Amino acid sequence: MNIALIAHDTKKELMVQFCIAYCGILSKHRLCATGTTGKMVAEATGLSIQRYLSGSQGGDQQIAARISCNEIDLLLFFRDPISAKPHEPNEMNLLRLCDVHNIPVATNIATAEALIHSLERGDLDWRDIVNPTR
Ligand code: PGA
Repeated sequence: MNIALIAHDTKKELMVQFCIAYCGILSKHRLCATGTTGKMVAEATGLSIQRYLSGSQGGDQQIAARISCNEIDLLLFFRDPISAKPHEPNEMNLLRLCDVHNIPVATNIATAEALIHSLERGDLDWRDIVNPTR
């Protein structure tokens, strides 16, 4: 599975802790992330992560483009629900595209934990069956 990771600044440490906790599961999949999120997770876990630009520089749109091409199977996007971001419209579009393409997406750690356990159980394997060439 292709898994994309994005975390706003106030949630980056949470993302790092999440990825440390589930490193064993995540290591069995292909990971990509926005720039700083990917750097922090890779340094903390040793996981191999394809890094895109920083979110503010368009990294979220690079991930959105992959979602549009049906190349992402799961998005973990730990959002800061309190402070507004200048590139928020792009992020709304990213979430919209997940709905368009039926991509499982978690915007907080509680849902992320539910999805990662689903992933481990093989509940999301239907995506490989539907799209074997990906
Ligand atoms: P970053 O991008 O991982 O490069 O910080 C995410 C964000 O928009 O905060």
